[in-house]
Amino acid sequence: MSKSKSSESVKVVVRCRPMNEKERAAKYESVVSVDVKLGQIIVRNPRESSGNELPKIFTFDAVYGWNSKQLEMYDETFRPLVESVLLGFNGTIFAYGQTGTGKTYTMEGVRNDPEKRGVIPNSFEHIFTHISRSQNQQYLVRASYLEIYQEEIRDLLSKDQSRRLELRERPDTGVYVKDLSSFVTKSVREIEHVMNVGNQNRSVGATNMNEHSSRSHAIFVITVECSELGVDGENHIRVGKLNLVDLAGSERQTKTGAQGERLKEATKINLSLSALGNVISALVDGRSSHIPYRDSKLTRLLQDSLGGNARTVMVANIGPASYNVEETLTTLRYSNRAKNIKNKPRINEDPKDALLREFQEEIARLKAQLQKRSGKKKRRLRRRAGEGSDDEGLESGETEDDEEDGDDKGDYWREQQEKLEKERKAILEDHSLVAEEKARLLKEKERKMEDFRKEREAGEKLAAKVKAMESKLLVGGKNIVDHTNEQQRMLEQKRQEIAEQKRREREMQQQMESRDEETLELKETYTSLQQEVDIKTKKLKKLFSKLQSVKAEIQDLQEAHINERQEMEQIQNELTRDLKLKHLIIENFIPLEEKNKIVNRAFFDEEPEEWKMKPITRIEDDHQMMSRPRSAVGYWRPLSHHARVAMMLKPDMRYKAENIIMLDMDIPARTSKEYQEPVIAPKLAAALEDALRDEDEIEVDASSFHSSLGQMLPSGRPRTGKKSSTPTSSYSPSSPGSPLYPQSRGLVPK
Ligand code: ADP
Ligand code: MG
Repeated sequence: MSKSKSSESVKVVVRCRPMNEKERAAKYESVVSVDVKLGQIIVRNPRESSGNELPKIFTFDAVYGWNSKQLEMYDETFRPLVESVLLGFNGTIFAYGQTGTGKTYTMEGVRNDPEKRGVIPNSFEHIFTHISRSQNQQYLVRASYLEIYQEEIRDLLSKDQSRRLELRERPDTGVYVKDLSSFVTKSVREIEHVMNVGNQNRSVGATNMNEHSSRSHAIFVITVECSELGVDGENHIRVGKLNLVDLAGSERQTKTGAQGERLKEATKINLSLSALGNVISALVDGRSSHIPYRDSKLTRLLQDSLGGNARTVMVANIGPASYNVEETLTTLRYSNRAKNIKNKPRINEDPKDALLREFQEEIARLKAQLQKRSGKKKRRLRRRAGEGSDDEGLESGETEDDEEDGDDKGDYWREQQEKLEKERKAILEDHSLVAEEKARLLKEKERKMEDFRKEREAGEKLAAKVKAMESKLLVGGKNIVDHTNEQQRMLEQKRQEIAEQKRREREMQQQMESRDEETLELKETYTSLQQEVDIKTKKLKKLFSKLQSVKAEIQDLQEAHINERQEMEQIQNELTRDLKLKHLIIENFIPLEEKNKIVNRAFFDEEPEEWKMKPITRIEDDHQMMSRPRSAVGYWRPLSHHARVAMMLKPDMRYKAENIIMLDMDIPARTSKEYQEPVIAPKLAAALEDALRDEDEIEVDASSFHSSLGQMLPSGRPRTGKKSSTPTSSYSPSSPGSPLYPQSRGLVPK
């Protein structure tokens, strides 16, 4: 399984970005100087009072100044790593540092400026160029993109962005993200598209993109599988996985005053980063046997990259301005420790979960199926040709004679179609057949044609599937001897050689520096005592200054440690306060019995690291408990002693606890009024009186009902003319002054 058992250190490089507009405008001084030759970063203390304080010097595998080029950095630092991923090693590139120091610039860069493209797009180019130049190899490249925010994993390529994914572990392949989507990509353009989709999704969920990106870790994963014929005549698959990690900003999240949700957020945001720090410390101090990978999602996911089966490059990004000096020093110390992590990378050969193997097997299976199909047809045709019943059969039989010829499949299909069509026509034109027979034959032919069409479609579908699957497997371009291609490759090789040369020079310089003191001593032969004293004094001075700087470093570290401890204590205090509040609520609002039940049901689930509740199980014995308790026999409700006594003493409804209510009938209130005659104004009454008085023109013989009329016409009560419809026969014109038929006088003009 393993080809290289040797261990190698995590490579740490530091990149210092240029001053930005704001810093230049505010005239901040630069406190960082970069010694590219020696691979050293020198940080001055910006405080005035510390005039005689020595600058702090850190040495790394490589350092890059403000004018470093993306491509130069890629060739020197990242290309060898990606190259080894193509060989089947796992590789990881981290960008670590304070927000705004160029992590994203280093990883992604400026998208549409080829000069300023970062590691991720450059690696795309690198990988696909490598594949196009390969020979006798089959490749499968796929990409995934995920984000960790507040210890939750989001798949940036999934349609459902609200879903959170979980980590799982398998003994053979280690930790993986369950249900993480991955896309097979065939070209630089396709994989770039995948990255863009992920980046868009990254900003979708965030209200404030800057803040969000500075608090979340983004991991772009490229898996390259390569299949090659081994010396044993078998196909062997190597799988390399490249993790490209843009970490959250390393600055301390201010925790002061945070409570509840915000406190939770603050403690969670940097959890992964502080866990990363702890893992690094545990790995390098050599004393601890336990490495706390499990403390965070990030460290679990990248477990292999830290002390495991991977090559790792860590890029520490810093800013040059004086006001950032504290963060810069913290970053440098953090990455300085990481230098000492030892990894054991090896080539992953023939792993169980290689997708390429699955693809190859599936293609082989489909091809066999296709073969079988066409084989069946051929046999059928040959059989028919053997019968020699008709010319068409013979003809096609002849064409199919060349057995292994699969190319003229199209012709074959066409011929078959034509043949069936011809037969159909023949039936149609054959007058010797009875109509019924004809219809039956026609139907049969049509059915045959339909079957034939279906079969053809299925075959085509199968062929298309095979083609689609094969297209995903990449093989080297045929133009391998292409002149420009060759030249380009030479150029790249030269560039790489130069980079390698530079690296070696730097290493030698570093070694020389460290041996300086010894060599000095060895070279010297003292001619006199005085000279010896002089030289030793010089050396003493040098050593003394070194001692001083180490002492200062120790003090700095102690201070940083104390700060960290104080912060942790503060968090602890706040958490304790929070806990006390929860306790108070529980004590006061949850009965002890219920609390105990909950405590008994609760259990801790290790995988998502959450407390969960076991489902309620209803045991038969519990049945009694479920029924309603009765305090008095014969009653449904619990009754107090007092109520029972009171009920017996007087029939007070109050103590009748059952559903018996006694109520008086409700008499509804009257809503109408008595009828009252309208009151007539005196003036109107007088006028009517007047109008009704002397009726000399109408003569009515009212002698017969005079008496009744007297009653009918009380004074002051007008009668309308309705009564005038009385039959004329009863008129008595000889009675003047009769009040029965009044004549309007003056009220209505005649
Ligand atoms: P981070 O991701 O660490 O928060 P960014 O990558 O977003 O920081 O960088 C912040 C700004 O600094 C960006 O505008 C970026 O273009 C600029 N920048 C960072 N590093 C460099 C560099 N080496 N050269 C030029 N500009 C840089
Ligand atoms: Mg960023």
